[in-house]
Amino acid sequence: MTTSTAPATHREPDVPPDVLCDNLVRIFRAEGIEVVALQGLDLRIERGELVALVGASGSGKSTLLGILSGLDAPSAGRALVAGHDLAHLGRRERLAYRRSTVGFLFQQAAANLLPYLTANENVELPMLLAGVRRRERALRARETLEVLGVADCGDRRPGMLSGGQQQRVALAVAVANRPRVLLADEPTGELDTRSSEEVFGALRRANRDLGTTVLVVTHDALVSEQVTRTVRIRDGRTSTEVLRRGDGAAGEVVAEEYAVLDRSGRLQLPSRFTSRLSMRDRVRLDLEPDHIGVWPATRRDPGDAS
Ligand code: ADP
Ligand code: MG
Repeated sequence: MTTSTAPATHREPDVPPDVLCDNLVRIFRAEGIEVVALQGLDLRIERGELVALVGASGSGKSTLLGILSGLDAPSAGRALVAGHDLAHLGRRERLAYRRSTVGFLFQQAAANLLPYLTANENVELPMLLAGVRRRERALRARETLEVLGVADCGDRRPGMLSGGQQQRVALAVAVANRPRVLLADEPTGELDTRSSEEVFGALRRANRDLGTTVLVVTHDALVSEQVTRTVRIRDGRTSTEVLRRGDGAAGEVVAEEYAVLDRSGRLQLPSRFTSRLSMRDRVRLDLEPDHIGVWPATRRDPGDAS
């Protein structure tokens, strides 16, 4: 087996990343019991990326999104979003941050919307709170609903909309103030396949047409096939990444798997790789000019190898 040392993402040298987590730790204490929900998580998302975050239940996905959204604070480590250091936000800054820098989409569409307001009014509300003028509000609400494919829902209340429409209107609310980063926590978790596809299409349009950087937590394997980068979180740390590019020989999509290399040089190898080659406890390494080889350790001392 060979692990590539190529960088996982293309990096523009002058553009700072939109999301940067460095050794992020979150410990919950409840009734004398400590739960380490995030244990030194590293994550970097460039501006304009659409990244899927996958991982088993309890792996720390919602905890991470809670911190990035400014709802919760890390116990240790650093989290920067669009240049804001989340460990050092004052009350007012936090409010402004939550209102304008990040948008949030929850799993339950209904939780994202006010039932007694029309879709248009729901989308205008965050703009109203941010002091946007009336004409601009109406204009931008219409534009946002249109981009997300729900222009015809503007005058209807949430109760009159399907689940997929509700969640797309909720997305319009989340991006109404044109946040730099949109955080979505299993936004298609309660929807059927078709509605999920609609919502995911809308997420892609928010990313492509509105320039929003998107981090979406999902269980849906199909969804992670539609994004360029999938980050897997395991036990509160990011473990592997899959990058997809449409540049295969016959134009097919090529998926490459990456592992996160932290600052100390730690690397987590996927268990389906290590178990296939019966790798345990110790592996043999070889530095080649353009890659590092990893082999199952042999019984012999590495120095004796011929
Ligand atoms: P995921 O979203 O990946 O399912 P979570 O981030 O919700 O995972 O939870 C990660 C771990 O942290 C779990 O063990 C969970 O029980 C624990 N946890 C999350 N929130 C709290 C809390 N407020 N108090 C105590 N433990 C929590
Ligand atoms: Mg969760």
